[in-house]
Amino acid sequence: MNIQDNLIEILNEIPEKIKLVAVSKTKPVEDILEAYNTGHKTFGENKAQELIIKQPKLPNDIKWHFIGHLQTNKVKYIAPFVSMIESVDSLKLLKEINKQAKKNNRIIDCLLQFHIATEETKFGLNLQEAEDILNSPSYLEYQNIRIAGVMGMATFTDNKSLIRDEFRILKQYFTDLKQSCFINKEFFKEISMGMSDDYKIAIEEGSTIVRIGSIIFGKRQCSYSPA
Ligand SMILES: *Cc1c(COP(=O)(O)O)cnc(C)c1O
Repeated sequence: MNIQDNLIEILNEIPEKIKLVAVSKTKPVEDILEAYNTGHKTFGENKAQELIIKQPKLPNDIKWHFIGHLQTNKVKYIAPFVSMIESVDSLKLLKEINKQAKKNNRIIDCLLQFHIATEETKFGLNLQEAEDILNSPSYLEYQNIRIAGVMGMATFTDNKSLIRDEFRILKQYFTDLKQSCFINKEFFKEISMGMSDDYKIAIEEGSTIVRIGSIIFGKRQCSYSPA
């Protein structure tokens, strides 16, 4: 298992305009550095605790995408450096991100995470909830966040047509929101969908960001333990 070869193969395979988030959750900093040494700079983590241990040990120009469920009390730890928070699923969280971004004198890019899978365990909004957030008076006051698009995870299944349908739904949500809330807003452009097992389908269905972990770094242990 050679991380650099895996990464380069995927980068060569996906269209150039699609961004790759190399999902490094549970993997040691050595592995991330190995991937980084190919020149790739965008990585994804899903736990704040883990990210804040790794981030200071790694190069400063890494663009960290936060892709997991984020508790409001953890936002302050990642707000100084995080590049994008892909997993915004409430107004309360958005409010806290705005507050912490402001403290750090930054504007943080966010994606709205949608629930598109049939599994109940996956986090995320439905279209109505997203529109409620975007139409709320407080959202309009948030100067330090920018909603750059949508994110979703398909059902974990071999049923490719179900996965495809779910990605189509996410794309439709994106199109609906673009029309209703982000017309002429250039920055609202991202559709983050596709993981190791389904990124090819996601790309066919209009993904602009794929989040890929195991086929780059290998299978994961259950949790991260810093050496
Ligand atoms: C772990 C994870 C990924 C990557 O999963 P792989 O199947 O290893 O590619 C992508 N997105 C999210 C939100 C994740 O938690």
